[in-house]
Amino acid sequence: MSTEKNKDTKGVLQVRKHRKKKPSVEELTHGVLNGDKSILARAITLVESTRNDDLKQAYTLIENCLLKKSNSIRIGITGVPGVGKSTFIEIFGKTLTGLGKKVAVLAVDPTSTLSKGSILGDKTRMQELVKDPNAFIRPSPSGKSLGGVARKTRETIILCEAAGFDIILIETVGVGQSETAVHSMVDFFLLLKLAGAGDELQGIKRGIMEMADAIVINKAEGDNLKRAERAQVEFERALQLYPPKVNGWTPKVSTCSAIDNRGIIEIWEMIIQFLDTTRDHGYFESNRQNQNKYWLMQTIEELLKQQFYQTTAVKEHLESMLQKVAEDKISPFRAAELLMNNYKKELK
Ligand code: GDP
Repeated sequence: MSTEKNKDTKGVLQVRKHRKKKPSVEELTHGVLNGDKSILARAITLVESTRNDDLKQAYTLIENCLLKKSNSIRIGITGVPGVGKSTFIEIFGKTLTGLGKKVAVLAVDPTSTLSKGSILGDKTRMQELVKDPNAFIRPSPSGKSLGGVARKTRETIILCEAAGFDIILIETVGVGQSETAVHSMVDFFLLLKLAGAGDELQGIKRGIMEMADAIVINKAEGDNLKRAERAQVEFERALQLYPPKVNGWTPKVSTCSAIDNRGIIEIWEMIIQFLDTTRDHGYFESNRQNQNKYWLMQTIEELLKQQFYQTTAVKEHLESMLQKVAEDKISPFRAAELLMNNYKKELK
């Protein structure tokens, strides 16, 4: 990298570093397929870019990467802040690299734009795993909409798999719709919990229980162990009330201590069991196909919505329509139809 010395207006000598030359799509593809982590990071930056001229290159890059066959496993991990997700991912990731696996850690955090930097961007997290040559950690892409953040993460998964990462861990904070988005891009969905005071099932969203392939109660050590075991029984009982899953898998409940590295390897063994079951069942492959279809539909909806709201006629009339609807001067359906007509006219 070359440097150039400049004087700013106050006459202070400054050293400005030239930005690295932008690599071509061919260079990016080559680097990614060779498992070069720094090129992979740059390839992801291209995919995350919102600039129109980057978009075409990003598509070519992704298509090149899709050609490489991968036997990856995608694992989603969720839980409320403080449950121990990053501590767990660090020890789980180290366990996996210890078994000779290559592990990529991604995140879906739609709140990252609000809090200026995602939780995974924090350098103090996963200090050991960051240093591991067989691990790759990428913070959540930023974005205004969950759909946008999730789409970029999906594309990043493809790049990581092409780069030879065989286990992709995708973390999400347990808020809003982000869990549903992550669930629809992974093979296995793990919910991390803490043992409470006998009220385990309170405050847990039904939808999340239904999505989980495993519930793991963390911080199960010392005085907390007994409570964690009681919580385990309670969750097991609750899960029995749900109808059997279409994937032929009965969700499991276990306890672990991420800090003491207890119960961690058992989670990996459980995932292997899950893979055996769902591959035999034919679910693994069909689930991936359905997920691709789902994301196509999601993306169409998102693009259409974006296009609609960017139309000048819609921009001009939306505010007044909202006002009229609020005052009961026009029905919401009629107002939507009028706006839709404006939009269609402008498209012609
Ligand atoms: P996150 O917000 O879900 O990512 O949670 P963190 O991994 O940052 O952990 C939150 C706090 O819980 C930190 O102080 C961790 O050291 C602690 N912690 C994480 N795992 C364990 C565990 O297994 N046992 C105990 N006692 N503390 C833990």
